[in-house]
Amino acid sequence: MSEPFSSTPPAPAGDSVVSAVHCRVFKIPTDQPEADGTLEWSATTIVLVEATCGDTTGIGWTYAGAGCRAVVENELAGVIIGADPMDVPGVNEGMVRACRNLGRPGLAGCAVSACDMALWDLKARLLELPLCSLLGRCRPCIPVYGSGGFTTYSDATTRSQLESWVDGLGISKVKIKIGESWGHCEARDLERMALARRVVGDEVELLVDANGGYSVKQAIRVGRRAAAEHGIVWFEEPVSSDNLAGLHEVRDQVSPDVAAGEYGYDEPYFARMIAAGAVDCLQVDATRCGGYTCWIRAAAIAAASGLQVSAHCAPALHAHVCGSVPNIRHIEYFHDHSRIEAMLFDGNLRPACGELVPDSSAPGNGYLLKENDAEPYRIA
Ligand SMILES: [Mg+2]
Repeated sequence: MSEPFSSTPPAPAGDSVVSAVHCRVFKIPTDQPEADGTLEWSATTIVLVEATCGDTTGIGWTYAGAGCRAVVENELAGVIIGADPMDVPGVNEGMVRACRNLGRPGLAGCAVSACDMALWDLKARLLELPLCSLLGRCRPCIPVYGSGGFTTYSDATTRSQLESWVDGLGISKVKIKIGESWGHCEARDLERMALARRVVGDEVELLVDANGGYSVKQAIRVGRRAAAEHGIVWFEEPVSSDNLAGLHEVRDQVSPDVAAGEYGYDEPYFARMIAAGAVDCLQVDATRCGGYTCWIRAAAIAAASGLQVSAHCAPALHAHVCGSVPNIRHIEYFHDHSRIEAMLFDGNLRPACGELVPDSSAPGNGYLLKENDAEPYRIA
């Protein structure tokens, strides 16, 4: 039976509690039309949360819908305000419980995640510690893979993007989207894999993401050719990540690592995915799963089964937490998010020799919103 729970056990008074939570929403158009196997989009929405204690403010964010703001303001702020900023897991648990009747996956999970990361940043800034030191480091830097290669891109655009990662940033792993039009463009998928291999050469790891666009047998057929003809080593969401038996079957039949987990909003999701034998590497997204508090738990769940984790998107946010677990494989350096994080935040990290190095010279996550640059994109 669950114990009675208070998110604000004996709360200190005055300046040592969280005094305010603010939420703003920005919508950033993509630099050109983008699509993967099962979705197309022309803008990305970022929901920014600021948590304040005294004259110190921490920030966190999620990539979700503007509706997150209502969850933050109506359901979560009441849990956070008045809480001890040192007790982030306690506040996280309070937020999760407050969302019971909303349902945790989706907007509620994203809202909890942004608040959790703002609170970790606040705690680190209050203690005048870099976030990577507060979380503790297993390693000083984390490999990234370049991620984009949208199905809407021309060959020339795909080529220049791949070259910008490999030649420009020294990244040795790159990923393109396949499964175009729900798996209806199999020949073009294979042609684009061939193009990518020609551009990056034989030494660069080539990853593909079908975003659940294929059927099981189609994924097996494509996956075998992708490995044999183009040296693909990572096959992400070959079928829907809700089809755990299907993922397991594909994993049994192809040689590239099968990966999924980006839609995990709570710990049991990851445990079920691993128990089904669905993945070779578990993807975990701190902007969805419940922030750093739950990201670290998901990494531990994976470690218990001998699996590595890969951080899904939001590279600026993941750099700090990924160094804190021994079983990290890499961070997804996603085109949309790396672009937005560079546009909106001072202190944003840029890969060096294919790795991200969290800033250990600044308190907290080291990021500051560029207010003037962000304001034109604010929608709430
Ligand atoms: Mg993906």
